[in-house]
Amino acid sequence: MLFRCAVIGKPIAHSWSPFIHQRFAEQVKLALRYEKILGSDLDFEQQVRAFFAHQGRGLNVTLPFKQRAFHLAAKASAACIKAGAANTLWLEAGELWADNTDGLGLVRDLERHLSLAECRILILGAGGAARGIIHPLLDCLPACLVVANRSRPPLTQLAADIPSIQCVELAELSGEFDLIINATSAGVAAEPLVLPRQLMLNRPFCYDLTYQQQGATPFVLYAQQHGAQAVDGLGMLVEQAAESFVLWHGQRPEPLEVLAELRRLQAKNCSI
Ligand code: NDP
Repeated sequence: MLFRCAVIGKPIAHSWSPFIHQRFAEQVKLALRYEKILGSDLDFEQQVRAFFAHQGRGLNVTLPFKQRAFHLAAKASAACIKAGAANTLWLEAGELWADNTDGLGLVRDLERHLSLAECRILILGAGGAARGIIHPLLDCLPACLVVANRSRPPLTQLAADIPSIQCVELAELSGEFDLIINATSAGVAAEPLVLPRQLMLNRPFCYDLTYQQQGATPFVLYAQQHGAQAVDGLGMLVEQAAESFVLWHGQRPEPLEVLAELRRLQAKNCSI
């Protein structure tokens, strides 16, 4: 039996999710067709319904639709409800279910680089991805967690939803951190991310949720130019994909094998 899965987002051309899921399917010997769907601002909900009406088994959701995906679902996991954003959808007993595997994926990858307990963490951005990672990071008992965003409205909502975090506008950001996570979409939009100069003085570990098929992301380059260690979000991408795969197919793939292959392709500047 051939299973149909997909990722929906806008933009979507850059996504490596089809490659990753196809490799996972080969590992566990599953027949899978995994597509990319360009999301529509006007018709996102209709696109999701149409996907599942046409034998869709599982749908990944990426920017900027994660919050809309959460509100569309009839049922959601505890992680998804806490995040208020969904990256994984599927049908169960005729009802649309949602989960958010981003946080688990990020923590798995981050813990390969540093210990999160007692860490002073700064998240840049307050969109769907930031919402998905906050609770899993808090579960690791950091010393503090600050979210900085360009505009005020998402911060106001976030501060109301999660009182234990500090929320500040990017322009007013100050302080020293051990870990800086870029959860903005500035890199995808090829826009500059303007940060206070003092942020990099203590050389914090920098993690960019954004990844790109060729070369280092602008945030990774920026951090490295300031003498900080930095890594892009490819490891998180593969780990969150593995969790979605388990939810849809009930089988656990080998993420590190696929990550190593993607790193080789990235180093060779190969497009997929
Ligand atoms: P959203 O559209 O929901 O949110 C975008 C966020 O980026 C907002 O907080 C926005 O601020 C901010 N932003 C955009 N442009 C700029 C800029 N020029 N300067 C400062 N802030 C900016 O996107 P998501 O949260 O869903 O995704 C964010 C990023 O994370 C994307 O690059 C996505 O690809 C990546 N991601 C990677 C994953 C992985 O597995 N590696 C998983 C999930 C996401 P404002 O509110 O002011 O507009």
